Amino acid sequence: MPFPVLMNLMCHMSEKLIKRYLFASDFDQTLSFNDSGYVLSELLGIPPEEFERKSSGMAKLHLVQQGAELAYLLLHDPHFRRCRREHLHQVGKRIPLKENIQLLYQILDSGIDGYHFDFFVLSAAPVEIVRSAPRRYCARQPHLRNRVPVHSAGEIETILRTAAGYGKVACLDQLQAELQIGPDHVIFAGDGSSDVHAMLHVNGRDGLTIAVSESPHVTQIAKRTVISSNALAMLLPILEKIVGWEPAQIRDFFESHGLLVQEWARVRTDWLTLRPASSAEIARSVGAE
Ligand SMILES: [Mg+2]
Repeated sequence: MPFPVLMNLMCHMSEKLIKRYLFASDFDQTLSFNDSGYVLSELLGIPPEEFERKSSGMAKLHLVQQGAELAYLLLHDPHFRRCRREHLHQVGKRIPLKENIQLLYQILDSGIDGYHFDFFVLSAAPVEIVRSAPRRYCARQPHLRNRVPVHSAGEIETILRTAAGYGKVACLDQLQAELQIGPDHVIFAGDGSSDVHAMLHVNGRDGLTIAVSESPHVTQIAKRTVISSNALAMLLPILEKIVGWEPAQIRDFFESHGLLVQEWARVRTDWLTLRPASSAEIARSVGAE
């Protein structure tokens, strides 16, 4: 066999050996600690309670996809319309991020033998916020999928697309098609009600879903829940479920990156609400016996 043909064949074989996955993560309270809406409100001099009142009011009305409340306010609320591009960059610089996002990106990219994970951020937070935030920690930015404000004369003029609620499903489908990745090679991580559609979608197609908060919205749906202030914790279900490592290998892996697993507690959570039964209900249940 001629040498160039052999080399091509070998390259092709080594490419085939790498298993490729899509890792899509929410931003607010998944990669960050705070909701960017609160940080922006503070910056604009709007009391956080006012943002809370307006966004929870919209959520109750189901006026917009859950998670898109800030995007709506930026377009339609006179107080939030004062927001300029610089404010959004400032929020990105101020918002506290979880530790080791840069290392998470590097490990997903090429840190696990035989695997490559394309890291995308799917968030309804304005793109300027998400783009400015990882710059503080990431040498290379995750790709971004949210289409947010276009400014005209300083004001936010329109919104092209928000990755909120069902919008995240549309983004995932598009990414999956672009990357030519099977549905069972999709991983989605999120923390709140805006991530429910995406989690149900990924679960239904044999992908992996990771909840990073104790919110019942996501813990009841996600295949795994990991609570940590360190973004690397999201690797845990990936290393177990996809790479197939035992706990000892996972501990060694973290140690090889200079991190010790100090505490690793597994807790199965049952969400249960009990209320006093009425006498009619008790009588019914006795009658049924
Ligand atoms: Mg979130």
